[in-house]
Amino acid sequence: MLIKIPKGTQDILPEDINKWYYIENIIRKILNKYGYKEIRTPIFEHTELFVRGIGESTDIVNKEMFTFPDRKGRSLTLRPEGTASVVRAYLEKRMDRISKVVKLFYFGPMFRCEKPQAGRYRQFNQFGIELVGSQSPVADVEIIAAALEIYETLGLKDLKVLINSVGCKKCRSDYINKLKAFLAKKEDLLCYECKNRIRKNPLRVLDCKNESCQAVLKNAPNIINNLCQECNLHFKSVKSLLDDLKIEYTVDDKLVRGLDYYTKTAFEIVSGELGAQNAIAGGGRYDDLVEELGGKETPAVGFAAGIERMIITMEKQKVSWPKKKDLDVFVVNTNEKDNSLAFILLQKIRKSGLFADLDYSSKSLKSQMRAANKYGAKYTLIIGEEELSRNMVTLRNMETKEQKEIKIDNLIDELST
Ligand code: AMP
Repeated sequence: MLIKIPKGTQDILPEDINKWYYIENIIRKILNKYGYKEIRTPIFEHTELFVRGIGESTDIVNKEMFTFPDRKGRSLTLRPEGTASVVRAYLEKRMDRISKVVKLFYFGPMFRCEKPQAGRYRQFNQFGIELVGSQSPVADVEIIAAALEIYETLGLKDLKVLINSVGCKKCRSDYINKLKAFLAKKEDLLCYECKNRIRKNPLRVLDCKNESCQAVLKNAPNIINNLCQECNLHFKSVKSLLDDLKIEYTVDDKLVRGLDYYTKTAFEIVSGELGAQNAIAGGGRYDDLVEELGGKETPAVGFAAGIERMIITMEKQKVSWPKKKDLDVFVVNTNEKDNSLAFILLQKIRKSGLFADLDYSSKSLKSQMRAANKYGAKYTLIIGEEELSRNMVTLRNMETKEQKEIKIDNLIDELST
């Protein structure tokens, strides 16, 4: 019996890989331009990192982590997101000693044991950026602008920026108390999950999709009206900087996101093309996380973006992809007994910088020519015994069907013109 791919995972096949190269190249180019440097952290970490970083009461930590013991019984977890690992590396490698502000980005697979559906997988790829060491609202807006520049360069259209402020440790706990008191009175009208959330994670009630919960929330205390002066000023500056850059946004006072570490700014970039799973990127400020993971008080801001959802949106919007690079030369060998010279020539062609291949099975001339056609090669190089004895080979232009004999010594020059 064939072994199938695990639920919620996907193969990225050769015919699609150029899309990934293209996207990754643009992301790298733009983020380098903004001064971010790439970091690669392990795919698994000590479970404790995510429990402490993301928060014990979150869905990710409670229900979605792939956690397993190592051979000595220590608990490891496949990373469900990138920020906690980046902050761990920042602290462990003492990056604060290198510069006050550290700007990093990453790519890579993340793992969450969620119920798979369109645009939601158990293994998915994110790119993300983290700007550690600045509390300036400019940092918040810079990362939103960088994300939008990436999307715009890739040709994505009609994206919306939603922003909110979830306050700081101080004003948020006052707000949570008010919200709890309000929700407690309406508990009967809330869905089963939100009844539990009142005690465990009341902010998450705000973004529950259930209609009856949303109806209750219409009169709930508003987080923005309950910010302390500092958070309020910060939020105003973020909005005004977005205005200055002519970045359109919608304030969504119910946007709280699923990770506990956010403070002040929280944002999401959504696409109408994606249905229920409409967020293509999400992030915000996390001024307490560095301290929570054992460092000193250090403000930070970042976001993560799903690459699969980006590709889905690009395909729905019929964004054009760069053309795949065709093969330059396909080498056909008519000497069935000896293909060593064909192979030597093939290597020479490759080393000159051209894309070249041959048919390993050395079948008849006819079937090799068929293979050359299938590969879509620009030229076919035919190596025949009689021509070889004269140090010649035959080059066929597959488009014009013109064929000419050339000297082996002139082959690379001829192909490069
Ligand atoms: P988060 O790390 O939850 O803030 O998510 C950031 C982005 O990652 C989202 O906006 C999505 O684009 C993407 N994402 C999160 N979870 C999944 C998933 N299970 N499958 C596919 N993409 C996801």
